[in-house]
Amino acid sequence: MRIAVLTETDPIEPRVAAVPETVKKYIGLGSEVVVQSGAGAKAGVPDAEYEAAGAKIAGSAEEALSGADLVLKVRRPNADELGKIQKGATVVAIMDPYGHEDELKAAAEAGVNTFAMELMPRITRAQVMDVLSSQANLAGYRAVVDGAAEYGRSLPMMMTAAGTVPAARIFIMGVGVAGLQAIATARRMGAVVTATDVRPATKEQVESLGAKFVAVEDDEFKQAETSGGYAKEMSAEYQKKQAELVKGHIAKQDIVITTALIPGRPAPKLVSEEMVASMKPGSVLVDLAVERGGNVAGAKAGEIVTVGNGVKIVGHVNVPGRLAATASSLYARNLYAFVETMVDKEAKALAVNWDDELVKATNLTRDGQVVHPNFQPKA
Ligand code: NAD
Repeated sequence: MRIAVLTETDPIEPRVAAVPETVKKYIGLGSEVVVQSGAGAKAGVPDAEYEAAGAKIAGSAEEALSGADLVLKVRRPNADELGKIQKGATVVAIMDPYGHEDELKAAAEAGVNTFAMELMPRITRAQVMDVLSSQANLAGYRAVVDGAAEYGRSLPMMMTAAGTVPAARIFIMGVGVAGLQAIATARRMGAVVTATDVRPATKEQVESLGAKFVAVEDDEFKQAETSGGYAKEMSAEYQKKQAELVKGHIAKQDIVITTALIPGRPAPKLVSEEMVASMKPGSVLVDLAVERGGNVAGAKAGEIVTVGNGVKIVGHVNVPGRLAATASSLYARNLYAFVETMVDKEAKALAVNWDDELVKATNLTRDGQVVHPNFQPKA
């Protein structure tokens, strides 16, 4: 089995799909690994480290893909890459299929079997393969670091000979994987932390991390979690009550970090222009949902916007990529854990069990067809 690891072509993507540790493991499965030269450069992994781990280095994507049965990527292959991948080969990546049905069709037509890591079911067996969690956790950490860097004051309370500096107040909106890590990070950095979410289960989680929970805890709140563990889209009435509660609270915060998402829907609007304007000059908002429409009014993807009153709205994109080395290393392990389940160790070849629930949930294209139930043409 020959595995190709490509250099990501999207300029906003510094991560890489394999690191020397996982290259060694793939070789341990009896495969040959070919890494495109420079694939790890932006994630702090020079070609020499891949070579030392046993990989061959290829001068181009074409050379890396020649004869490859399995292609490892961070992002979906583009048209140029699809043209170079051999028919019948398998690609495992973050495929981002929603809204990209044409690209999915192109992958099918190229005869490439694709698997979307982000569709991995969130069940115990697949935790080790959960790229949403591994990357969101880092994004939550980095959001606090980015917020702190833009904030012109220190975070912890300091008692100095020149006087006492108060602790910064940080408010986390949305307490999923990213939000929980943001709370933990902000606490470690000495801030006074509050957090909100619409799922009741988060109250205890927030409090167990030493932060204070702020939320409208009405009947709708008690029902706000889906059986899958995600948030429902809240009613206009709830959103109004939430906005009333949050309004006074936000005005007193130094840093606000928003992470709220609803599967398949645009990100909920949680912070209005009026709320931003109510914050003190020098305060910072970090919107981790900016790529999905944003939680904060005025947030712009890829920009740090300073509004009239001197409040900054940070809208970095691909936040896990801002920790490219750590993010790559965790992503590469997630990928290996999944690929390992699809390899016949005796035959040293891919032997996909098409009935496996992990395979069914993530397989998008197979044998020239788009096979995933969520992407079938509407009758
Ligand atoms: P997510 O990225 O979909 O959303 C982030 C958070 O935003 C969620 O906590 C959500 O409740 C919150 N939110 C949505 N609308 C909101 C609003 N109007 N106001 C305030 N907050 C709002 O979430 P996630 O990080 O993917 O986590 C989703 C769930 O999956 C959680 O229950 C988590 O514990 C669970 N999970 C399970 C596993 C597993 O393997 N079993 C792994 C990871 C996560």
